[in-house]
Amino acid sequence: MQQVFSILISFGLSIVVWAGETISEGRLAKGTKWETPFYVSVSGQDGPTVVITGGIHGNEPAGARAAEQIRHWSITRGRLVVIPQANIPGLRDGTRFLPGEPPSRRDLNRQFPKTKMAAEAHGVLGKALWKFIGDQNPDWMIDLHEGYDFHQINSKSVGSTIIDAKGKAADVAVPKMLAAVNATITDPKKKLVRLRYPVDGSLARAAHERLGAASMILETTFKSQPLSKRARQHRLMVHALLTHLQMADGTSQVMLPAKTEALRVAVYDAGGVGSNGPRELDRVLRGMPATMARRVGAEDIRNGVLTQFDVAIFPGGSGSKQAAALDARGRKAVQAFVQRGGGYVGICAGSYLAAANYSWSLGISNHKTFCETIDLPNIGRKSMWYRGPTATVKMELTAEGREILGDRKGVFEVRYHNGPIMSPMGVKGLEAFRPLAIFRSEVARYDPQKGTMVNTPAIIAGEYGKGRVLSISPHPESSAKLHALVANGIRWAGQR
Ligand SMILES: [Zn+2]
Repeated sequence: MQQVFSILISFGLSIVVWAGETISEGRLAKGTKWETPFYVSVSGQDGPTVVITGGIHGNEPAGARAAEQIRHWSITRGRLVVIPQANIPGLRDGTRFLPGEPPSRRDLNRQFPKTKMAAEAHGVLGKALWKFIGDQNPDWMIDLHEGYDFHQINSKSVGSTIIDAKGKAADVAVPKMLAAVNATITDPKKKLVRLRYPVDGSLARAAHERLGAASMILETTFKSQPLSKRARQHRLMVHALLTHLQMADGTSQVMLPAKTEALRVAVYDAGGVGSNGPRELDRVLRGMPATMARRVGAEDIRNGVLTQFDVAIFPGGSGSKQAAALDARGRKAVQAFVQRGGGYVGICAGSYLAAANYSWSLGISNHKTFCETIDLPNIGRKSMWYRGPTATVKMELTAEGREILGDRKGVFEVRYHNGPIMSPMGVKGLEAFRPLAIFRSEVARYDPQKGTMVNTPAIIAGEYGKGRVLSISPHPESSAKLHALVANGIRWAGQR
């Protein structure tokens, strides 16, 4: 322990003692553009040291997200060292490389000591990481990455693999890690497989050859899989390893600290969600102080993760597809979450999902949507929810809207894309909703839609059990100017 502390103190860190477990944090490459945080949990019980890195490649965000969750895991023995976002400038730009570095120095995962070369790393960040990780004296080095395709479908990609340095320890652990993650994957071609050997200059290979660590790279696949699913696969593999090492305390579903004052926001990003919504919400959430945001999928929700959160957001896409992806168990979990005091924010599709008029909708908001199917002369049967491609409409806040969403007076523009036209449903035992904003113009594709949108509610608020429900028909998250409005809505739903 003493040795551990003297090593850590040389990096200038803060230390918190938590129920027999010591958690400390500090920064690597301090004062440079590469500065990045690290976190060390010391259980106080003898056991292995496991080092986990995420975000070495900035265009592989699931590893960084997963590591940011894993750092909050409690351990029963040994030490857990996490560097969640190794390459912060790359993550910010969404690029694989170290932005601004020359070609030979730009791939961080080629800057560690190569086989039969000098025992030194290259570049400010490479050196800082290598020095720190060497000082930890790791027994295990786990580096989280992503590939562009499933290795079993396209062997040119290392997506959905574990690439380990050979060794007896890995021979026992890797099959257990594969079994844990593959149990959640139904398509046999998308299951993870084992590969060897990490590429020359990679952190995993150097840690094995120079530090004697059992090392591996865990690769998920970003092709057509939501971020929540990829981060969950990383969590499952790391959790299986920690279980094998008898270090695990708690489940692989822990995404957040046990205690925090921060507003904890879940953004649903799985079945039925378009790709832009979660990305735009990331921008809104980054601008909100004291907020911890996580992507969650249907499987996470069915597994009960919402109990960790204050607010759940269901973005644009298709309400019926979101409902189908959640299935009855997931929908029940969302209803129970709001009933107990959780906040719900539905945007466009999420406001169809919250409604009370579909067999598949959640019924947590006392509204119905204009969605009749009508026979149109010379056109055929058409469903009235469809009003055409994305458009700009006018909207105005009500008095209560100005209190909750910000004091914006008069009419302003907002993006609209087939959001629900909301009216009272009149469910007994459920409070009526209150309009927070009103559409002041409309879009219509078919004659029966004309006049049905203008002057109807664009944003409504209601209560369900102890929780608050905000249903937003248009897309204010698409306009930077309206991010504050969305942020205020999220805070209101979270009862802050
Ligand atoms: Zn990578």
